[in-house]
Amino acid sequence: MIKTLRQAPTREDRSAALNPSLRQHVAEFVLGPINWAAEDQGYCRCPGQHLHTSSDGRRDCAVFLSGAPTIKCLHTSCAAAVENANRQLRSDIGRAERSDGWTPTPQEMRHTKAAIGQRRTAEASKALLAVKANQARTKILERFAWAEVDAWEASPVRLDGRPEDDHRLFLRIFPDDAVIWIGERHQSGKPEHTANFQTARQWSQSPKPAGPLVCPAVFKNGAVSRSADNVITAPFLVVEGDAVDPDLHEKLTKTAAIKQDLAAGRMAEAEAQILSQQYEVNDEDRRRNREGCLAIIRWLSEGCGLTLRAVVDAGNKSCHGWFDRPPEAFLGELVTMASGLGLDPATFRPSQPVRLPGWKRETDRHQRLLYLNWGTKQ
Ligand SMILES: [Zn+2]
Repeated sequence: MIKTLRQAPTREDRSAALNPSLRQHVAEFVLGPINWAAEDQGYCRCPGQHLHTSSDGRRDCAVFLSGAPTIKCLHTSCAAAVENANRQLRSDIGRAERSDGWTPTPQEMRHTKAAIGQRRTAEASKALLAVKANQARTKILERFAWAEVDAWEASPVRLDGRPEDDHRLFLRIFPDDAVIWIGERHQSGKPEHTANFQTARQWSQSPKPAGPLVCPAVFKNGAVSRSADNVITAPFLVVEGDAVDPDLHEKLTKTAAIKQDLAAGRMAEAEAQILSQQYEVNDEDRRRNREGCLAIIRWLSEGCGLTLRAVVDAGNKSCHGWFDRPPEAFLGELVTMASGLGLDPATFRPSQPVRLPGWKRETDRHQRLLYLNWGTKQ
């Protein structure tokens, strides 16, 4: 057998071998405090954490110092921020290793300390807000309880027509000439998807909804993709809770854990089957969760002062609230509270497809309007 020649160590290898603590030092300088799992590997706060659209875990973002130093985050919405931080990290480590004995200047140190301090304060207040939201949820569910029939009674537009006509009524919350996307989730991104982008007026002429999903966004003329670049205005915020009801939430969490255990070989198939049946979601769970969503929607409207435009029964276990889009500062807080309230912050994004009323689901239930408000903007 031929022995391969060992490659001469590169400068990076030599430096890493010589001085791993230098790399750690620079990494903390760039990223803030790092929880080191090994000399060359640790977990940090994602440099794009503010862009995450699902909840954060302690180990979502890792930093690797061997070879080309790299930050990797499990989330995808932060990719651009992570890429920027990667460039910064590599450049600073390179700079440090080229000039032996690099240390930040006192001014740089002061700057870093201040930045880390600010970040910690911001994190602490965010964590507090999430805990408060979770405690508040029980109170909101009680105090703002809203039965389906009461939402329907309160609707400014009378909703006593056939559910399959709901899309026409609903689309009037958009301006007539606004370009809107309707379709199946995959119908975006290719030239043939041009038919999925039509004006509200055009869509309203169709006797039946043309697809199950719609976006709370107005797109550019001629768009064929739902990408954020094609969004010209985001008039609405959609709030949806798949797990507002605490019992349903627990069932869903347990079921997910069983699936994981089964996949990892930690649980026998027979046992998994029995346990899954125990945590099976039933009609009563779905009804409770829909009413939980209605309570959150009523709280956002009456308690927080958002203007409610529509409530859509998604035809399964949740209801969606459509609001006039609030200021970014409010949205930021809502994102932080989302997990505590059992909401899915993915629907806060304007280009996220959500259920269009009027469509009949595979369960034979209609996605339908429970509340509709065409009133002038407040
Ligand atoms: Zn991230």
